[in-house]
Amino acid sequence: MRIAVFNTKPYDRRFLSEANAGFGHALHFLEPRLEPATASLAAGHQAVCVFVNDMVDAEVLETLAAGGTRLVALRCAGFNNVDLAAAQRLGIEVVRVPAYSPHAVAEFTLGLLLAVDRKIPRAWARVRENNFALDGLIGRNLHGRTVGVVGTGKIGALVARSLRLGFGCEVLASDLYPDPALEAAGIRYVPRDTLLREAEIISLHCPLTPETHHLIDAAAIAAARDGLVIVNTSRGALIDTGALIEGLKSRKIGAVALDVYEQEADLFFEDLSNEIVSDDQFQRLLTFPNVLITGHQAFLTEEALGAIAETTLRSAADAEAGKMLQNRVDTGRIAASK
Ligand code: NAD
Repeated sequence: MRIAVFNTKPYDRRFLSEANAGFGHALHFLEPRLEPATASLAAGHQAVCVFVNDMVDAEVLETLAAGGTRLVALRCAGFNNVDLAAAQRLGIEVVRVPAYSPHAVAEFTLGLLLAVDRKIPRAWARVRENNFALDGLIGRNLHGRTVGVVGTGKIGALVARSLRLGFGCEVLASDLYPDPALEAAGIRYVPRDTLLREAEIISLHCPLTPETHHLIDAAAIAAARDGLVIVNTSRGALIDTGALIEGLKSRKIGAVALDVYEQEADLFFEDLSNEIVSDDQFQRLLTFPNVLITGHQAFLTEEALGAIAETTLRSAADAEAGKMLQNRVDTGRIAASK
């Protein structure tokens, strides 16, 4: 199949090319992201392959359809950037990668937590300047602390288990569907309000829905324990950034580690080191010594990238062969994966 692969970075090219040895698609790698101005680049390709920040709205889909494209293959789980009704109207199938490696994200979450809680980035910066003083680097043991895990699906369950069984934390959990296997491991499901009130550390692993939007807001921060540590590797808008900044300024919040950010679409995945970044909230967050931010890289492991490439190219092969598409996006489930 001829596939126009938009928004490609060197790692996308590497993993897709390697996986393609088993499929033999004609991959046309393109640097620009898919948007109205670039959609015509896909003319003559039966499929386009896109990522989280590509724009697959009705206008783009019309151009794709006119150019002969019949498949949109998302190399990610979320599909909130696709106008599914327009795709359906134009006869374009949409496939995604529902799960690639929850371990990648869970392990990165623990890495962020340990790094911010034990002040590892600050220590590293000091040692590079031959400053071996330890003053200001005092951390806390994870062992025995109360951690709240919001959302115990594929990723949250791994984080909760590691914290409970590996580190010996007291783990409180909140989910619409409690997992009996986690309860058997000693993890205690409590109402979300109780979790937000009692946890010393909160790790977010639920999807972004109208119900979870800004679940960490000014009221949640006010009710939380002093010195609260927050880790978010899920979706930026689970946290009200303004309230977070106020919580840090008042010292109510002890530390924050973020791999996702509310306005990340304007920043992440690009090298902006020569630019003036005009997002004042993001710049303010960077000034706190107890805030650690990474640019949405929790998924970025060899295993996850390999699995994403394999699943995406297999879906394209199945579409070409007229087989049933296992990872086809169903319009009725649009809110579930946001
Ligand atoms: P999942 O669907 O397996 O689990 C999500 C869980 O959240 C489910 O158990 C669901 O019941 C629960 N949930 C839904 N609404 C809830 C609510 N209101 N309160 C509490 N729990 C609720 O998803 P997953 O694969 O574990 O992914 C979790 C999150 O991680 C997603 O938001 C995803 O977008 C994000 N993610 C981030 C990265 C990254 O690189 N940073 C990579 C992959 C996934």
